Amino acid sequence: MVRNDSSRKWWQILSMFLKLRSLYRERRKSIEELGAKVYELYRKNELDTEKFKEYCQKVLSLEEEIEEIKEKLLSFKREKIFCKSCGQDISPEMSYCPYCGTPQKENPERRNSP
Ligand SMILES: [Zn+2]
Repeated sequence: MVRNDSSRKWWQILSMFLKLRSLYRERRKSIEELGAKVYELYRKNELDTEKFKEYCQKVLSLEEEIEEIKEKLLSFKREKIFCKSCGQDISPEMSYCPYCGTPQKENPERRNSP
């Protein structure tokens, strides 16, 4: 059961990284398109910022999505573990439970490496 939870967590993290990568790629592509469009209109002397709002909005929403995923990844890092003795949630970096003082080294829930 513990192992299943762990591998599911790693899958979630992996899929978030993949999603992040494709979002970055899409963002770069959108910015390139925007640049090409700006230049095209500049050449035709039709440069009008109103026309780029849609492009910029797309990049912005991609960036929002990127931030959201980054935040989720951070929350995985900050994930708490539970004291094997009193059940309080504690930080994985702690060697002793701050609530009851039980050493956490042998806690089976504690995992520092993948
Ligand atoms: Zn405790």
